[in-house]
Amino acid sequence: MKPILTAAWLGWALQAAAQVSGPATPPAPPSAVSTPATPAACAPGASSAESKACTAVRRYTLANGMAVIVKPDHRAPTAIHMVLVRVGSMDEVDGTSGVAHAVEHMMFKGTSTLKPGDFSRKVAALGGRENAFTTRDYTGYYQQIPVEKLADVMALESDRFAGNRWDDDEFKREIEVIKEERRMRTDDSPRAQLGEAQMAAVYNASPYRRPVIGWMNDLDAMTPDDVRGFYRRWYTPANAALVVVGDVDPDQVLALAQRHYGGIPAAPVPVSKPRVEPQQTGIRQLSVKAPAEQAYVQLAFKVPRLDPRDLETPLDQPLKPAATDALSLTVLSAVLDGYSGARLFRALTQGSNRLADSADASNGLIGRGPQLFMLSGVPAPGKSTAALRDALREQVAKIAKDGVSEAELNRVKTQWIAGEVYQLDSVMNQARELGNYWIWEQPLDSGERLIERLKRITPAQVQDVAARYFGDDQLTVADLIPQPIDKNKKPRTPPPGSRH
Ligand SMILES: [Zn+2]
Repeated sequence: MKPILTAAWLGWALQAAAQVSGPATPPAPPSAVSTPATPAACAPGASSAESKACTAVRRYTLANGMAVIVKPDHRAPTAIHMVLVRVGSMDEVDGTSGVAHAVEHMMFKGTSTLKPGDFSRKVAALGGRENAFTTRDYTGYYQQIPVEKLADVMALESDRFAGNRWDDDEFKREIEVIKEERRMRTDDSPRAQLGEAQMAAVYNASPYRRPVIGWMNDLDAMTPDDVRGFYRRWYTPANAALVVVGDVDPDQVLALAQRHYGGIPAAPVPVSKPRVEPQQTGIRQLSVKAPAEQAYVQLAFKVPRLDPRDLETPLDQPLKPAATDALSLTVLSAVLDGYSGARLFRALTQGSNRLADSADASNGLIGRGPQLFMLSGVPAPGKSTAALRDALREQVAKIAKDGVSEAELNRVKTQWIAGEVYQLDSVMNQARELGNYWIWEQPLDSGERLIERLKRITPAQVQDVAARYFGDDQLTVADLIPQPIDKNKKPRTPPPGSRH
């Protein structure tokens, strides 16, 4: 099963491996003095209305413009402290691709009081886990800590947010780490190469055409002042949000935030040029040759996205047609590939004469930039990418012709509701979801609103989008043509310190 926002959440992020594989630190027992008091409404035995109120999301804005979003979750004495900056690779300009991600790396390299590496050492000493990530749309930094250490990580994070400092030699070392990260994640990965080449073909004007990690030549040419300039320009309080989820009291978090972040001077938020993608008017095709075990084909169709304001429309009023289409396309992707045994799996990957070893569908739905509906797959041995490409499109055409059943739609919706609940079980996911809604300028209860809107999508609406968005004119097809693998080539090992 895929969560609704898979593609958008992952958002072509450079996810840090440590985020998923880092050792879990058992939270220390809460200390009596610094643990925020549990509000009466949150005590055991509170009514369900009371307990709903005690875990309600609170949002504040500091005088310097920084957003503070707090969600209490009293199930464990732990908290997520996350700072998001509304700047990602889409805010870069040609020649300095990769600079948003380079800033993220350099944020670990010191302040006026901390030496390189001190930040991470101090977080570890507090019993915390931490990391950072850069996506096309935003950059994020987070720590998971025993709740009584919240003020300590706030002091550390606000210090580097306002005063990141390092010398040129430190940058020269780190840019080599970043280049090695590019070699490992992109140059040595045939599918990542294909994805990178495909995005550069899908988009002409949109900054989504550039990879988050940056082109190698731009990394070669990057200077310390490129990084400092980008940091100074974009890391301003009004372009950032602090998200705290965990065993906390919102008013106390606000007081801490005022103390640690409130003193950072206000500065204007820069405005990126719109760079709207012109209408595509014909099929685009590309192929990538790379050493690989198997071929692969990926189809990208341009589709409308859910506009930030769309979810604010009251439920009893109809959405704009583009918003209804974006939601219907998301339901369509789930009918194709949203649960075990869904259409693509059944039609393409079963039996000895199967066409594919795997087949996937996903819809972008939400983001700061334009979105895509993707179909992709690995042909089974002896089958061609051309045959698989046609078969993937055939599955959509079938829905355009015959529609989907109410039962199929119900299955998808039930899975989503369960999936959303399961997902929100983790404080990290809650923080990330709230952070995403802030990044995309959506209401903070967008998760619930989204589910309500998706529930209202009808079989006729799914059939309708299947008929309208999958022609040739908005399509970019990319084929991976496998080349022999050099068996003597040693796999790369990550360079020391490459964890962001
Ligand atoms: Zn990195």
